[in-house]
Amino acid sequence: MANPSILILAGDGIGPEVMTEVKKVINWFGAKRDVAFDVSEDLVGGAAYDVHGVPLSDETMAKAQEVDAVLLGAVGGPKYDVLDFSVKPERGLLRLRKEMDLYSNLRPAQCFDALADFSSLKKDVVAGLDIMIVRELTSGIYFGEPRGIIVENNERVGINTQRYTESEIERVARSAFELAKRRGNKVCSMEKANVMESGILWREVVQRVHDEEYPEVELSHMYADAGAMQLCRAPKQFDVIVTDNLFGDLLSDAAAMLTGSLGMLPSASLGAPMANGRPKAMYEPVHGSAPDIAGQGKANPIACILSFSMALRYSFDLGAEADRLEAAVEKVLADGVRTADLLGPEGGVPVSTSEMGDKIIEAL
Ligand code: ATP
Ligand code: MG
Repeated sequence: MANPSILILAGDGIGPEVMTEVKKVINWFGAKRDVAFDVSEDLVGGAAYDVHGVPLSDETMAKAQEVDAVLLGAVGGPKYDVLDFSVKPERGLLRLRKEMDLYSNLRPAQCFDALADFSSLKKDVVAGLDIMIVRELTSGIYFGEPRGIIVENNERVGINTQRYTESEIERVARSAFELAKRRGNKVCSMEKANVMESGILWREVVQRVHDEEYPEVELSHMYADAGAMQLCRAPKQFDVIVTDNLFGDLLSDAAAMLTGSLGMLPSASLGAPMANGRPKAMYEPVHGSAPDIAGQGKANPIACILSFSMALRYSFDLGAEADRLEAAVEKVLADGVRTADLLGPEGGVPVSTSEMGDKIIEAL
């Protein structure tokens, strides 16, 4: 059988720097664990614009549709700020998400013990935290019609429409329940059914998918405002949180700050299952291209490495290998190894991007 395939799109800024470390990790798994992938590489963002005049070529788009998983670094940079909107680096990323129809955005908030002091919250609130926010990514108020700024009674009115179909709610709910089965078997669905019709439908459909298909998973519902409060007060009560596009945007950023640095946060965006049963998938760090530190060996590669770990788990069913990789990251952090973004008052062993990658390989 052919090896599973990965398309690497390193992109701009620190994207290629952190991706270099991921490639070391991929090679290690091939050499030492007999977990081999067919890896190809291509351009996205400003890097693609420089060569092709577009932030994502049709050929690259077609490749992304064929592979088992896309690993993306980051796109954008000051050099491209002057470009027309239609060819901005970010448009490359949006095209991938849109055409692959990646409707389920997974953002884990996981607090490594060694970094518990680094969080914005008290250590006992976050130590050992491991939750997953599933955000609906392709519908809701960001896309609903009508939208626009109109004139009414001589003043301007800004309009957006929150809109969800049953099938859009069903598919993201399934994605959350499937995840919960591999984790803590618990889903909390968040909406505002007290004030929004879309929230009433959301709650009803999530409950129905649960009752018909996943009765063994524990399901609860919470209003999103109460959820935001609980997320800050006692985040460890959650396992998987499923929510819409707008609330997911807010809640996942809030959850991110529970764990410390932007340089630590991975993400996955999943779509419908392909013929081989694997979901369409793209994995990327939450951080951007960080032009302020690009080219200096300062970037923390852990967010990107943990994104690959999510690929092992969710695209390739290699949970044990993902555990191994995460344990290696944990070990390195426990040893005090720190890129600049993780150096707090308690100090540590300062390392560069590539040294961090090497330490993780050693720990593996
Ligand atoms: P985007 O618009 O692409 O989200 P941004 O400017 O909003 O970009 P980032 O590029 O993520 O956000 O950078 C925000 C800050 O976080 C920067 O100052 C950068 O130095 C820091 N940062 C981001 N990623 C990392 C990383 N992997 N390692 C260290 N620092 C990082
Ligand atoms: Mg940003």
